[in-house]
Amino acid sequence: MRILIVEDEPSIANFLKEGLEEEGFAVDTADNGKQGLQMALDYLKEYDIILLDWMLPGISGIEILRNIRKEDTAIPIIFLTARDTTDDAVFGLETGANDYIRKPFAFDELLARIRVLMRTKNAANLVLGYGDIILDVDSHRVSKAGENVDLTQKEFALLEFLLSNKGKVSRRTRIIEKVWDIHFDYDTSVIDVYINSLRKKLDLKNSESFIETIRGVGYRINEEV
Ligand code: CA
Repeated sequence: MRILIVEDEPSIANFLKEGLEEEGFAVDTADNGKQGLQMALDYLKEYDIILLDWMLPGISGIEILRNIRKEDTAIPIIFLTARDTTDDAVFGLETGANDYIRKPFAFDELLARIRVLMRTKNAANLVLGYGDIILDVDSHRVSKAGENVDLTQKEFALLEFLLSNKGKVSRRTRIIEKVWDIHFDYDTSVIDVYINSLRKKLDLKNSESFIETIRGVGYRINEEV
């Protein structure tokens, strides 16, 4: 997950960069409007989300937003604004921001909003992935480095579940409930059989599995950094 922060106040930019990097995001920053717009347009497809200050030297956040939206209507954008009238916030949303947060704000609140937008974004295009593995929910296909990989229904459902919960540990009991729809008296050892099969079909040779075993707890596919 890569985030672009366009913010001219160094203390806020650094605070956000450090906090988001600790959460596993890759973070780029721009400290003026011109640079921010340039980076956003040059690398638009690289970013998963943009945090945009409203008042910037050079080009305003609103101008940057308008220009980004001409190119891309989907990328999530959150406005960071010191302005505090409702009108300005509404104007920002009408111009195409997905959300806004007023300074000063708590980092955890911003993080929560980022996560909500990431979930919405992932739900909208229904494509999940890890590295060169792509799972397309709509067409029910999985590919690795562009090549189709045949999975059984259960393998597909298990992979979809793990990818939807990327970065978090999926507990064995939860996997068996969600993927196998078994809610009582269960033997979870069937999960290991299917995990092994996914690993055989999708892991790179001679490297660690992309599905991490959390001993006694469950499995995890890590966020990519
Ligand atoms: Ca500013």
